[in-house]
Amino acid sequence: MKQYDICIVGSGAGASPVAYELSRAGYRVLVLEKGPYLTEKDFTKDEIAVSRRSIYTPRLREEQHVVETYSSDGSIDRVTAAESGWNFWNGSMVGGSSNLMSGYFHRMKPVDFRLRSAFGPVEGANVVDWPISYDDMEPYFTKVEQLVGVSGRVVEHPFQERRSTKDFPFPPTWEQPISGWFDTACETLGYHSIPTPRAVLPFDALGRSGCSYSNFCGSYGCATGAKGNARAALLEKAKATGRCDILPNVFVYRLDADRQRVTAAHYFDADGRSHTVTAGTFVVAAQAIESVRLLFNSRNDLHPDGLGNANGQLGKNLIFSAGGSGRGRFEFARLNERQRFELMTRGAFVNRSLQEWYVYHQNGRALKGGTIDFLFEHPNPVSRALRELYDDEGNLLWGRKLQARLKHAFTASRIFAFEVFNDWMPTDKCFVSVDESVKDKWGVPVGKIRLYGHPHDIEVGNYLAAKAERVLRQMGAVEIESDISSAPPPNLVAGGCRFGTDPEHSVLDPDCRMHGIANLYVSDASFMPTGGSVPYTWTIYANAFRVADAIIAALKGRETGYNNVKDS
Ligand SMILES: Cc1cc2nc3c(=O)[nH]c(=O)nc-3n(C[C@H](O)[C@H](O)[C@H](O)COP(=O)(O)OP(=O)(O)OC[C@H]3O[C@@H](n4cnc5c(N)ncnc54)[C@H](O)[C@@H]3O)c2cc1C
Ligand code: SF4
Repeated sequence: MKQYDICIVGSGAGASPVAYELSRAGYRVLVLEKGPYLTEKDFTKDEIAVSRRSIYTPRLREEQHVVETYSSDGSIDRVTAAESGWNFWNGSMVGGSSNLMSGYFHRMKPVDFRLRSAFGPVEGANVVDWPISYDDMEPYFTKVEQLVGVSGRVVEHPFQERRSTKDFPFPPTWEQPISGWFDTACETLGYHSIPTPRAVLPFDALGRSGCSYSNFCGSYGCATGAKGNARAALLEKAKATGRCDILPNVFVYRLDADRQRVTAAHYFDADGRSHTVTAGTFVVAAQAIESVRLLFNSRNDLHPDGLGNANGQLGKNLIFSAGGSGRGRFEFARLNERQRFELMTRGAFVNRSLQEWYVYHQNGRALKGGTIDFLFEHPNPVSRALRELYDDEGNLLWGRKLQARLKHAFTASRIFAFEVFNDWMPTDKCFVSVDESVKDKWGVPVGKIRLYGHPHDIEVGNYLAAKAERVLRQMGAVEIESDISSAPPPNLVAGGCRFGTDPEHSVLDPDCRMHGIANLYVSDASFMPTGGSVPYTWTIYANAFRVADAIIAALKGRETGYNNVKDS
């Protein structure tokens, strides 16, 4: 049997930097991925297949979750994903959900690393400072810009974070003319319009093709390789070293561990046969919910409550990106010919954001705000048509009335949208565990997700949405509305294996190594104690590069001194 130094579970943004760095440093790496190995030639823009039939996520009848919510009287409502259709899978394939992301990339800001010190406690929430600072992460944010490829342009604004380089390594992607309308509106209102950084290459670089402006980015695989997905950007390069093997279509169901070390990983192959892998170091990066599930399912006599759960912290403080979205409509009848022409330019990105209220003051209190990204509504035609099914009074439309409404929506107006990202307060009421009574197709207990959104998140989200609506009004949009709620976006999930210095209140040490287990690291978003008011993926990539450095240091006997056990 082939010997490996590192065995990684999962192959997404949390896994790929470790595979990349360790294989280039001369170590033999094995990546175990549940989904198939898809490349550029496999990705099509078929809305029925991708968005309606979810071909990139497992069939819920075969693999699912149990979801619990609080009803108004405080009791728990429980539903299986197979019953409800509630899908918490994101992307199951080599490269994980980074294949399907839109690539809106923002760095976390210095204040995100010290929420507790900066804003004090929030009642009912477990807000803590991170055990590392922005300065510890900055070199890794920069590394992601350069290796994964982030395009953008630095502009001065009140919350521009410190950078070690002057500007992005790649200029912004092609901008839709409406970005100019947005800039003018912001100037009038006194806001600082920010070109949104994107994990999208504007031209051929890094051995990948530039963006072809397919218009179908979020939820779809990239047929050019321009999108900074984990496979195209990092895993192919890891493979090219000859020291990184990637096994697709294999499901890791258990890790064996003695008192202080993981000794083996067990997986089922596509035919349901079980295999065992040994390695010197193990890295779990199966996405926040699934990593926690695997650690629970790896319980044994020495770790009766699951790996990393000696203090009952495993699965706790699950977080999502709080906020929501909003939109307004530009009616062609209100525009001149040039404006109509500009509005109909297809393919180019809007790429505009506001971070004006990353911290704001209200009633004498400083509050942590967030980020607003602006974009056109997704071009998915079926989804767009479904939004037109009802008239303004809420009546279901049929026949000619529906025809007329669809014609208007597709040929005489265009929807401009925004997305709000603010912190989801970590609480005792939102966590992951395992449901022993529900099994997947391999007979393994599935993850159980308890959902709770803190009212504070909604208050902040509404504040930001009101600001975004103001910009849309200034631009001349009509029918402006927003939808801020405590419903979690399943694609932006983190927490469950909080990192920290104190094993009583965290699962991982500051290197993301499990407290008490010398050779086990967790490198996906589950390490995050708070999420920052930005989408997570840049942080996941950056932190995984940091974890890779910590693993290499440990393998070379240069311990960082965080862990309470020594690797032998
Ligand atoms: C439609 C969409 C749009 C998005 N847009 C953005 C955006 O604009 N900006 C942004 O920052 N983020 C965005 N995201 C989120 C981003 O994709 C994720 O935050 C990020 O990719 C998560 O990385 P991960 O490594 O933690 O998990 P994943 O990418 O989910 O990787 C986990 C991998 O592990 C595999 N796996 C799970 N369990 C096992 C097991 N037991 N054995 C073996 N393999 C296993 C899974 O199949 C998966 O491939 C978007 C996501 C989606 C779906
Ligand atoms: S080609 Fe460009 S627009 Fe199309 S999926 Fe790739 S990155 Fe997105």
